[in-house]
Amino acid sequence: MSELKTVTKTSSQLAELVADIRKNPDNYDHRPFQILDNIYYVGNDWVGAYLIDTGEGLILLDANFDEVMHIFYRNVRKMGFKFSDIKWIFVSHGHWDHYDGVGEIQSMTDCETWFPEGDMFLLEEREDAPEFKIDHFYKYDEPIICGNVKITPKLTPGHTPGCTSLFIETEFNGQKVMIGAHGGLGQNGLTKKELAEKGWPLDMAQRYKASLEEIREIPVDVFIPLHNAYYDIFSLADQDNGDHSVYLRPQDWKGIMDLRIKAIENLMANDKDA
Ligand SMILES: [Zn+2]
Repeated sequence: MSELKTVTKTSSQLAELVADIRKNPDNYDHRPFQILDNIYYVGNDWVGAYLIDTGEGLILLDANFDEVMHIFYRNVRKMGFKFSDIKWIFVSHGHWDHYDGVGEIQSMTDCETWFPEGDMFLLEEREDAPEFKIDHFYKYDEPIICGNVKITPKLTPGHTPGCTSLFIETEFNGQKVMIGAHGGLGQNGLTKKELAEKGWPLDMAQRYKASLEEIREIPVDVFIPLHNAYYDIFSLADQDNGDHSVYLRPQDWKGIMDLRIKAIENLMANDKDA
């Protein structure tokens, strides 16, 4: 990756893209790949999903959506796993493309699911929300131990009010490493007018900025994006010669947070209704 870049789409561009993905999911296929010894990308070209092997079962970070479940399932299998190996599911935020697959996975395995309480209203608002079981709401800043992996959830509102980022401590080549997954870097729908229409708190853009300023200080060694558009992990995968060191880029986490902070500052400065 020569230069860090991160993409901002308007709400209408996003709606158009989403309609196309749901109509032509096979156009958004992507190969799975291994990131570190115990972390695997199993999402598609649009939305990420990660498996983490804890030694005592698999963690799944985000669960994809109906139209792409065949791609998701194939990617999990290609990495040598089965849905039935999943023991813990962590959902980053209350948007369909991150949780629609949860119920299907729960039907195949006895797993525990975490969901952000602050996004429950999004499930309740949605008429066709699929049924699934929520075992836990996140308790922020309290680590969760899953096998040999420690996960600390942080509330990072903005993209949604309950948007949750996860910080995963594991080992790579005998060294401790921190993996960072921001729950949702998208800034669509954050103008004052759009916030008022949705009935969300009007200071959501400020909260987004403040949360990024806080988490940019966390020493993240490996950035795993939930949408490749915000951090191009696919090009790192293409450069990986098999030793996975290409993913260790501690400067990138701060770099991407800085780009997103600049973008939200622009949005606020140009928001005529503010
Ligand atoms: Zn989202």
